[in-house]
Amino acid sequence: MSPVSHLRENPLELAREQLARVAAAFEIDPSIAEILGRCKKSLIVSIPVRMDDGTVKVFEGYRVAHNVARGPAKGGIRYHPDVTLDEVRALSMWMSWKCALTGIPFGGAKGGIACDPKQLSRGELERLTRRYTAEIIADIGPERDILAPDVGTDPSVMAWVFDTYSMHVGYSEREVVTGKPLEVGGSHGRLEATSRGALFCARSTAEKLGRPLSEQTVAIQGLGNVGGFLARFLAGDGARVVALSDSSGGVHDPAGLDVEAALAHKATTGSLAGLPGARPITNEELLLTECDLLAPCALEQVIHEGNADRVRARVVLEGANGPVTPAADVILEQRGVLVLPDVLANAGGVVVSYFEWVQGIQKYFWSEAEVNAQLEIVMTSAFDETWALHEERGLSMRLAAYGLGVQRLADATKTRGLYP
Ligand code: GLU
Repeated sequence: MSPVSHLRENPLELAREQLARVAAAFEIDPSIAEILGRCKKSLIVSIPVRMDDGTVKVFEGYRVAHNVARGPAKGGIRYHPDVTLDEVRALSMWMSWKCALTGIPFGGAKGGIACDPKQLSRGELERLTRRYTAEIIADIGPERDILAPDVGTDPSVMAWVFDTYSMHVGYSEREVVTGKPLEVGGSHGRLEATSRGALFCARSTAEKLGRPLSEQTVAIQGLGNVGGFLARFLAGDGARVVALSDSSGGVHDPAGLDVEAALAHKATTGSLAGLPGARPITNEELLLTECDLLAPCALEQVIHEGNADRVRARVVLEGANGPVTPAADVILEQRGVLVLPDVLANAGGVVVSYFEWVQGIQKYFWSEAEVNAQLEIVMTSAFDETWALHEERGLSMRLAAYGLGVQRLADATKTRGLYP
């Protein structure tokens, strides 16, 4: 367990602060804003797990549905030592805005277990996942709440969720979870989807700014599912990747890193440390690296009041959820740094999750080219709508994206009306 949480501030309070800014800028009906500032349902479950040594350890898990006015709740499950109920609530709120911004018919949800998956064996991870699924089973389902991967979880965890749920209902219910392995109804392109969506945003921005990616330098924090593929994609577009990092630290080379060699080094040694030919840097130094595009793709609140004035990138692409605090946002905006917000920049994952759900329901599976083409259409239109509002009203990209999402959520909530 890490002794100090990465959460410097309460994430739910930050999400509510963002909501308040949006509500003011877009004149959201105060009673609707009041509803949107709360989560519909928050579950706290205790998860006893038999460990490999025969002892029993009890973990705490959460599943939160924020809003279902536009469709079933949707969102990932996070396995990380710092997970708290308020973090999961904030993440569920951002999922609602993200689904609304991209126009996919889902509400927002998130789940998590406070645990360190790196310290668990495969067997322990499987028992933890199955018991967690069983504990929340009455509140999930293809039309109720659909799970997916997030920090610390992967397709095999999704396969255990799918199997556990199916064993309980008595038949294979694929659509309770997305991000599944291909052999059990996953979608082509889902694994790379978040990064591919971020790439489309980076390309659109490059076009707007008149500066092709092949002339840009890039620094990426986090080499998990999002950061790893993003580094590869940006390098594929000709960008010079000057810095990379994982949770153990980073590497820097102003002449450009060999992304494939860095990923291979991480795959064989477990971390980036000791990558030949690159200067070791800390994660903090990575964020302050001289570059055109900085992509924080790990955890929340890494750019905050204390370092935002020293960020040297021109554009920040939020591969992670919530990597920039509202206080840092103000500083970056004053300094003219363009921030491509999480609900837009990392929406590719949930968009392809939606495609996976649709394919499962129709029992008709698409080619990878089809998935990627549809993703590009959704991402480009969300980007263009956000950019247009940003220009028209002189709003930051964050306020424009959040405004579009929250307005749609507010409209749906109002149109459906209050029950009873
Ligand atoms: N965890 C991802 C996110 O934050 C994906 C969620 C999903 O596919 O439902 O957007």
